[in-house]
Amino acid sequence: MDHFCYQDGVLHCESVAAPALCERFGTPLYVYSRRTFLEHYDRLSAAFAELNPTICYAVKSCHNLAILRMLSQRGAAFDVVSGGELRRIEEAGVDPARAVFAGVGKTDDEISSALDTGIGCFNVESEGELGRIAAIAEARGVVARVALRVNPDVDPKTHVYTTTGKRETKFGIDLDRARRVISDLDGRAGIDLAGFHMHLGSPVNTIEPYIESIEKTLELVAACRADGHRITMLNIGGGFGAHYDDDEAPSASAYAQRIVPLLAGKGLDIILEPGRSIAANAGVLLTRVLYTKRSGERRFVIVDAAMTELLRPALYGSFHFAWPVVVPDEMVPPRRSADLAVDGCVVVDLVGPVCESGDFLAKDRALPPLTRGDLVCVFSAGAYGSVMSSQYNSRCRAAEVLVGGSEARLIRRRETYDDLLATERVTDAPVSF
Ligand SMILES: *Cc1c(COP(=O)(O)O)cnc(C)c1O
Repeated sequence: MDHFCYQDGVLHCESVAAPALCERFGTPLYVYSRRTFLEHYDRLSAAFAELNPTICYAVKSCHNLAILRMLSQRGAAFDVVSGGELRRIEEAGVDPARAVFAGVGKTDDEISSALDTGIGCFNVESEGELGRIAAIAEARGVVARVALRVNPDVDPKTHVYTTTGKRETKFGIDLDRARRVISDLDGRAGIDLAGFHMHLGSPVNTIEPYIESIEKTLELVAACRADGHRITMLNIGGGFGAHYDDDEAPSASAYAQRIVPLLAGKGLDIILEPGRSIAANAGVLLTRVLYTKRSGERRFVIVDAAMTELLRPALYGSFHFAWPVVVPDEMVPPRRSADLAVDGCVVVDLVGPVCESGDFLAKDRALPPLTRGDLVCVFSAGAYGSVMSSQYNSRCRAAEVLVGGSEARLIRRRETYDDLLATERVTDAPVSF
């Protein structure tokens, strides 16, 4: 699953002891395992090898430049959803021709700069957007390569906030309208329609929704080809699961076993857009206990990480396994699951310092006894963790460290109070009206 393991009761990332990282870089701290990242990427790449897919890592899941560089060296292409992410991959030395650009609200500026950098493909989410891309491309005398994002109206059976392939969500174009949209495109000089894109939601821990959506979209491909359009590409999106609670997600090869036969020999270049399945288990959040207290029957462990570092529990009610970094041998967790029962545990809420009752990392959780100064690891925090962090309550965003073997490198420094204030120092004089 990953390379975060206990050795003699001490959590290690690869060969590096977690307490040493906290001493050196402070807490709260994001720690990533290079080996885990690469293994997850390689497994997906191997599982789908028969299709020779382009694997576009979803930048939004974990966007640190060092991680983008590392995956790029391994052969990854990229999925971006904003001008900022496009800027990020360029900074990481990636040719934007190796990127696809998704998102329902691309601005004219974002479209223009993507065209200027030679973006590989736009994943187009509406007719209005298609019109803007065509007009901007024609004004520049260039041709935009696009895939139409279809909304297959399939329920991925995940959290309502991360469901994106149902008709009532804001994403994509209905399957039945897509065919007409393509016919209306005939003769638009600025557009090269390469094919279709879909992304169902995340995490999608069953394979059936992919099957259903791909079958529906292949019918559309056939219909469009019959209409005389050259359809050469299908992007099946991301959304593959990760292991938050035990090993709950299907393996890369389990997804591939069902999906590959549907797509093999169809004359389509296949694109995948995985984020979570590569990043989630490759990162953890380390935090230190500040205080413990009781309120009636409830026990709280207050740590120095908060919803500002890891928003997922507050935003989605997500489960993240949490456990002390140093434990006696008999308390090394045999599994990482919500119903883990280990003798001697106490039921607590693991909460942060932020002034919100929604600021928790774990609720009603049986944990080994914790006291001030102890370190706690929040697992499976590599995806949609650090990238969603904020400065709310004027908190400085955490540092990030990448471990490879016995080496640890700082890949993002901890913010300072000067960083918090920098963008507001726009005038020397006190403002008065
Ligand atoms: C977020 C997103 C992804 C990545 O989803 P994961 O669940 O992280 O794999 C892929 N494609 C699109 C269009 C997305 O918005």
